[in-house]
Amino acid sequence: MKIIDLRSDTVTRPCTEMRSAMAQANVGDDVFGEDPTVNRLEEMAADMLGFESALFASSGTQTNLLALLSHCQRGDEYIVGQQAHTYRYEGGGGAVLGSIQPQPIEFEADSTLDLAKVKSYIKPNDFHFARTRLICLENTQAGNALPMDYLASAASFAKAEELRIHLDGARIFNAALKRNVSAAVIASYFDSVSLCLSKGLGAPVGSLLCANSELILEARKWRKMLGGGMRQAGILAAAGIYALQHNCQRLGEDHENATLLTQGLGEIDEIAIDVHEAQTNMVYAGFSPEAAALLPEFLQQRGILISGGKKLRLVTHLDVTRADIARVVVACKEFFAGRSKII
Ligand SMILES: *Cc1c(COP(=O)(O)O)cnc(C)c1O
Repeated sequence: MKIIDLRSDTVTRPCTEMRSAMAQANVGDDVFGEDPTVNRLEEMAADMLGFESALFASSGTQTNLLALLSHCQRGDEYIVGQQAHTYRYEGGGGAVLGSIQPQPIEFEADSTLDLAKVKSYIKPNDFHFARTRLICLENTQAGNALPMDYLASAASFAKAEELRIHLDGARIFNAALKRNVSAAVIASYFDSVSLCLSKGLGAPVGSLLCANSELILEARKWRKMLGGGMRQAGILAAAGIYALQHNCQRLGEDHENATLLTQGLGEIDEIAIDVHEAQTNMVYAGFSPEAAALLPEFLQQRGILISGGKKLRLVTHLDVTRADIARVVVACKEFFAGRSKII
């Protein structure tokens, strides 16, 4: 039986063609700048996002950290969402390694940061305060693609306030597809963008930081200091090139599957589904505590993996098909039908 893994889009495995591109990659020493495949991937990403330059790193945690370290000095501050990956899920790296103070604020329901609230948190130019330097947004955030007019407002706000603005674009291609624009249009509103190759794009490893050449040069120094300088990394970069060439457009299938899942689970009375206009490849489903405690194991016995918790995040990706979604919906219906019989 095929295992259907809805825990995250990081679980995707490289396909045969991707593995073969990796095996055949031309390589060199990337710390010397001599790996042709890494160089090609960096140029490709920079072109796709409309930046001068890009830097390949091992993870999105590292590219976000490189952005923080490159934009901010010791004692500077960045404004960020309370639930943002950069703030909450990256071990506090900016504070630990850069002495950069985070100023988290709550995301709005549509995953934006309210700009009036951001403004109220910008510190006065006075020696009592950390110097506010950077705003970080996330797109997609909780699977929501940020509205394009919001991005334009955020960019002009940052400019007016003389702040830099970074995008954690781990899933920027999901956002671009949802908003029916190129990733470059989204990226045009930011000073730097981090993107992940290892989520829905299906590469085993890797992220890119894209920005102007000056910032990337600074980031390259920090990457080395963090122990992130890799040598014949072209083997990994080849997977990234394959991912950018073949797996960006197909993210639409994941969005369709997430919609199907939303509709299917929506037919079950015991499940409360969040329905969002901005939804991409994530479905958030709320259950009673009893159901939440039992459902993961029930599904696991049927070859379906979900993460636990009162509110479930179900993520579609390239290893989940339309038929798999149908199987998941049937299994969930079975679970709740069985429970009502017991009660
Ligand atoms: C996955 C993810 C990252 C990077 O995570 P890594 O596992 O370090 O690659 C960054 N931001 C968001 C929003 C993510 O989902």
